[in-house]
Amino acid sequence: MGILDRLRKGLARTREGLAARLGGLIPSAGDAAAAADFYERLEEALLTADVGVTAASELAQGVRERLRGRAPADLGALKAALRDQILGMEPPAQAAPEDESRPRVIVVVGVNGGGKTTTVGKLAHMLGLQGRKGVIAAADTFRAAAIEQVGTWAGRVGVDLVRHKGGADPSAVVYDAIMAARHRNADFVLIDTAGRLHTKTPLMKELEKIHRIAGREVPGAPHESLLVVDATTGQNGVVQAREFLKAGRITGLVLTKLDGTARGGVAIGISRTLGIPLRYVGVGEGVEDLLPFSLNDYLEGILGDASLTAPESRPPGGSRGQ
Ligand code: GDP
Ligand code: MG
Repeated sequence: MGILDRLRKGLARTREGLAARLGGLIPSAGDAAAAADFYERLEEALLTADVGVTAASELAQGVRERLRGRAPADLGALKAALRDQILGMEPPAQAAPEDESRPRVIVVVGVNGGGKTTTVGKLAHMLGLQGRKGVIAAADTFRAAAIEQVGTWAGRVGVDLVRHKGGADPSAVVYDAIMAARHRNADFVLIDTAGRLHTKTPLMKELEKIHRIAGREVPGAPHESLLVVDATTGQNGVVQAREFLKAGRITGLVLTKLDGTARGGVAIGISRTLGIPLRYVGVGEGVEDLLPFSLNDYLEGILGDASLTAPESRPPGGSRGQ
């Protein structure tokens, strides 16, 4: 399956939910009452897809201006206007600048269960496909099971793992991983960290120490610090992420589990709200289910072909086609 198909499949629930809601908004000819409150209902429909309060309101307003205050004649016109409006609003995702220093150090952080370890495995696979050699640092030393889990991923994607015993100092693991990467002339070090809440000071201190050790050993490290946000938590995930940003240096977002939710609208506005580019999206549990984020492709994934006029035939909440 190609990247676009994977994304399309992952976004099926969001797309079906949106198509049904947006389709239901189009007033039939002559229905003046439905036409009058069209934009209010559009805003509500966007909120239901977890687009977020500010973005939903701005989008509805923007579409209204585009269509000169009238309700769209059909779903195709509405989707096209929405698509143009979103494209006009969103900053393009910017890749973190590559510099010369090697190994490139990438830290993955976020709350428990969000998909950090899975993302580390998928990223290692993606970098491997680009011909890069790397090392994974099992810096979630909190539970022995976490070390086993990241070890399984490392084995699956054929990347070396540096691990210590459960309870070890995570920054010592990071140090050893960087040494191992140097020794093997590797291109990257991917650091899997323990789930933490921004409110837990010791864990945030631990993260600072990881950053400090990495920066001491490799100029500019960590080169990327990716915050994992679980899409199934919708706007709550965004609120949590905002708190996270206050506490630490984050260079990019990863939105995971887009495939498990109809709340995929959360991707809209998230990078603007948080001021951080959305770099990757997770659309499944397999090694290939991490995709670089492209707003164009994403919009095609949630709106379908915006030039289509017919509502999608599958009902919302129906089979996910797996
Ligand atoms: P961590 O605690 O942040 O390291 O989270 P894990 O990587 O262990 O992931 C928690 C659960 O979410 C696991 O069951 C993963 O398989 C699942 N998961 C992670 N990313 C995705 C995704 O993009 N889609 C789906 N459906 N499941 C995911
Ligand atoms: Mg983990």
